[in-house]
Amino acid sequence: MKKKRIALLLACLLVCSGCSDHGIRQTSEQPGVLEAGEKTEENKAAGDEAEPYASRDVFAMDTYMTFTAYGMNAEEAVADAQELILKLDEMLSTGREESEVSILNRNGSGELSEDAFYLLQQSIHMCQKTEGAFNPAVYPLMQAWGFPTKEFRVPEKEVIDKCLSVLDVSQIQSDASDGHVEFQAEGMKVDFGGIAKGYTSSRIVDVFKEHGIESGIINLGGNVQTLGTKVDGSLWRVAIQSPREDMDYLGVLETSDKAVITSGGYERYFEEDGVVYHHILDPSTGYPAENGLISVTIISENGVLADGLSTALYVMGLERAEEFWRQNSGEFEAVFMTDDEELYVTEGILESFSTSYNMHVIER
Ligand code: ADP
Ligand code: MG
Repeated sequence: MKKKRIALLLACLLVCSGCSDHGIRQTSEQPGVLEAGEKTEENKAAGDEAEPYASRDVFAMDTYMTFTAYGMNAEEAVADAQELILKLDEMLSTGREESEVSILNRNGSGELSEDAFYLLQQSIHMCQKTEGAFNPAVYPLMQAWGFPTKEFRVPEKEVIDKCLSVLDVSQIQSDASDGHVEFQAEGMKVDFGGIAKGYTSSRIVDVFKEHGIESGIINLGGNVQTLGTKVDGSLWRVAIQSPREDMDYLGVLETSDKAVITSGGYERYFEEDGVVYHHILDPSTGYPAENGLISVTIISENGVLADGLSTALYVMGLERAEEFWRQNSGEFEAVFMTDDEELYVTEGILESFSTSYNMHVIER
């Protein structure tokens, strides 16, 4: 599967110190990904001799996740990170009947614990900020299209219209004092799939920091978060995945302390009668977003923002996305690819992004 291949490839490239911009060298310079449970000491030789490190692979949130911490307490840090991922997955997964989110969706009311409540608030905020391009209440639509169960179908118009009638996030009542949430509209359901991974990676950074880790890299299915720099002080090199099957990545970004998060219709989709339907839905139509973009990458210190905006700007299309960036350019940078394979890059990352494509620069 392309997704798995990319996740592993990125894991390699991320820690690769000798990659050229136009190819990936699968050499012994790469520590690669260690198996869960392996002892840091035994793997020292694969990383920086002076610095212990530990790494884990986890499959959660429907994604291959790899994360590495460098430093004295690396082993404890990645163990705690793994525990955190499993906890968040259990809490947020719409695929688990007993997750907090599933219970809330089933009953139309429920109690959310701190993390889930925070994500609800953030996703409502993101909905307002993006004028509805990001909307956590898309879950009935996701179900209508069959994405959660993989029983894909193109829904009838009446079904779509019904789902569109329960998208108003102002109908979500919540009480921060006890985490109680209530949907005022019958049939309303939420899904944090558009921001959960960005949140998870930023929480892992917190866990790493609590263990005194100053250098680390987290790759949740191609959504990357960097902590500090590499141990030798150089910047992390993050490959941005390509929407094309025959190309491994769009370009490489040199960065530190940033989330680099990509949304693309190619990640999850089905085909019917020769038409491709993907999993990023446009809340204004109820159909998969078709606004001329095939890939959006957001670079930001804020993982939740980066994840939410990667989805939202994909929905907006290039013109609206450019305008949104100009109005909020202190908060993030972006890389866009259009359906005619033109690459657009916001000016703030020009110096740190290298690609074999011809770049169009988006200026303030
Ligand atoms: P991925 O999860 O594949 O990395 P995204 O971050 O773009 O990609 O999130 C897509 C997920 O977000 C979908 O699987 C669905 O759960 C949810 N989603 C789809 N469309 C929207 C939307 N317009 N607003 C908010 N969430 C969405
Ligand atoms: Mg997203």
